[in-house]
Amino acid sequence: MKRIGIIGATGSIGIQTIEVIRKFKNLYKIEFLVSYSNYEKLFEIAKEFNVKKVGFINENLDIKSEEFKIYKGKDEILELIENIDLLFVSTTGTFSIFPVLKAIKNNINIALANKEVLVSFGKIVKNHLKNSNSIIIPVDSEHSAIFQLINPYKEEFERIILTASGGPFLNLTIEEMENVSVEDALKHPTWKMGKKITIDSATLFNKALEIIEAYYLFDTKNIDVVIHPQSIIHSFVQLKDGSLLAHLGFPDMRIPIAYALSYPQRLEKPSTITHPYDFEKLTFLKPDFEKFPSLKIAYFCLEKLSYYPTIMNASNEIAVYSFLEGKIKFRDIFKVVEETLNRIQKEDIKDETLEDLLYVDNLSRTIANSIVSEIQRNCK
Ligand code: MG
Repeated sequence: MKRIGIIGATGSIGIQTIEVIRKFKNLYKIEFLVSYSNYEKLFEIAKEFNVKKVGFINENLDIKSEEFKIYKGKDEILELIENIDLLFVSTTGTFSIFPVLKAIKNNINIALANKEVLVSFGKIVKNHLKNSNSIIIPVDSEHSAIFQLINPYKEEFERIILTASGGPFLNLTIEEMENVSVEDALKHPTWKMGKKITIDSATLFNKALEIIEAYYLFDTKNIDVVIHPQSIIHSFVQLKDGSLLAHLGFPDMRIPIAYALSYPQRLEKPSTITHPYDFEKLTFLKPDFEKFPSLKIAYFCLEKLSYYPTIMNASNEIAVYSFLEGKIKFRDIFKVVEETLNRIQKEDIKDETLEDLLYVDNLSRTIANSIVSEIQRNCK
């Protein structure tokens, strides 16, 4: 039996991971479960799978239990990261860099559904991986597709082509995009996901983050984006002879989740099986960089690397939550990220250690917040 620990067990990906494990109970033993603070849901899952150790990222959570051993806050959660075969990371946000580094140190494989860990701290993660037997198995659907396609061709691939649905505003003009509501932005055409990632799909910052994520996973800067509104092709890998490999299926996160759980084996029908007869017409478009400056920003950060992706990720997070709270308009999200990248004084910043990058992350959030306040003042 594979021993598994899950961080972010009560979120959208966490719940679907539990769903897959429920179908294959004889193959997996959940050793611990961690969530931010949703103890009701976490206890319910822990009871069902007979898990004794549960953790909460929120260390101020006032919770006691006779039934479970409780781990609160970073240091206690890190104690959990041992004697398992796979750490499943399905949080959003930057917290998970700590358990990921601990897992790498302990030679534990990681199923990674979190983008921020690689986008913001990719350099540190890569350095740690050099001295470890850990493998990162991506759960993000595009990267899972590429991971599956690229394995036999690591020396012979030319280019990665990420597919993007284009989000709910693909066919709006820039002017029409100015006044879209939070509600409009939360309507994703093909995938059902959490709020932060749904807004990121509408701005295409999700794809921007995935470009950087792909760089750190597959070690290439030759990364293209194609708009594919049906989300049937999860990504392409182009080989040096021009062959284009693709990974197809209906949008269903249980497939990449099942693959990450079972790698290098495969599970028997973790989800419904698709047939090409079931697909509608597949279309492909060039992304519009004027409408979606997020992609331009991503390629700029890909060129620069170092702490630039850290700034992009942190300022985007502040901008998205500010939009969700009604503080700024949809297209201000681009402004906040661009301005934060402009304003950070790069001369005194380093990118050598985790502390350096955490400092950049924090600084970016402070600056992004002040840009949000300025935009609010100008609107009054
Ligand atoms: Mg994705």
